Amino acid sequence: MTGHRTRRVCEFCRDSSRSDRVPALGKWILAVAGVLGSLTLCIGGIATADPALVAAPRAERAGPDRFDVVVLDAGHGGHDEGATGPSGLHEKDLVLDVTHRLAERLRRRGVRVVLTRNADRFHSLEERTAVANDARADLFLSIHANASPSRRPRGIETYFAALDATDDDARKTAERENMAFGAAAASFERADPLAVILGDLIATQHLQESSEFAKLAQHELSEIGRARSRGVKQAPFVVLLGVQMPASLVEIGFLTNPEEERGLRSASRRDAIADSLAKAISVFADRYDVRRGVRELGAAGSPTRRAGHGPHP
Ligand SMILES: [Zn+2]
Repeated sequence: MTGHRTRRVCEFCRDSSRSDRVPALGKWILAVAGVLGSLTLCIGGIATADPALVAAPRAERAGPDRFDVVVLDAGHGGHDEGATGPSGLHEKDLVLDVTHRLAERLRRRGVRVVLTRNADRFHSLEERTAVANDARADLFLSIHANASPSRRPRGIETYFAALDATDDDARKTAERENMAFGAAAASFERADPLAVILGDLIATQHLQESSEFAKLAQHELSEIGRARSRGVKQAPFVVLLGVQMPASLVEIGFLTNPEEERGLRSASRRDAIADSLAKAISVFADRYDVRRGVRELGAAGSPTRRAGHGPHP
């Protein structure tokens, strides 16, 4: 395992100056301790490992672990245009605009929104995952548009991370999206077994919530007029495997389908997508807070806010 790869999968090992001083075996042990310590902190709220060795991102935040920060990741950017539609609409421009529309809605609801990119610039895999992990966010959402060699495929699909893809189409989609990250993605895919196990442990920690959010998002998106739902899927998107929080990637339509490209050019369609995702995030936030005891279920089964915890989506 290289220090480079370790930094991406393990919060503890992000301090390379410290990990570089210990031999390889020590690094492995410390990395595993870091992951297990983080899991313990998350599940039980009690640190059983040496606090000097275990990063405790949540402990650095004041107050209860309430849902209040979302990282939005507009795919591609700069030299990486992503997919391009028959009339020339670039995925990088479409997804940045949808991301801004969604960010505006979330901010109006009191959520802190962090963007991995705010302009037409390319950011590496490491930069994107570092932005997300440094923000200690409660949800990471990557926004993309799909492409196919044929003009026929259409529809919306939502992903959460897995090492094995749901099906052949899902695997190809992840390969295409990962390609933009070049060598970083390739090295992730060739990861040694321990790195894979570490990545898998971290993914497992948030797997249930990632799956829950993906279902909510796909449900809301399929309610949009003329939308075709292609379902919730799993695939090894490297950008999802590198973040330490519930994470999902949405493909908001096929740019290579002329009819969908036409729709995706319109402000009304982009607003509808942003509305749907904002609603899914809001429902997810309510459930997230109930699970962590920040809010309680009301008499009718809907979450009610406990006093004194500030704004909420
Ligand atoms: Zn993409």
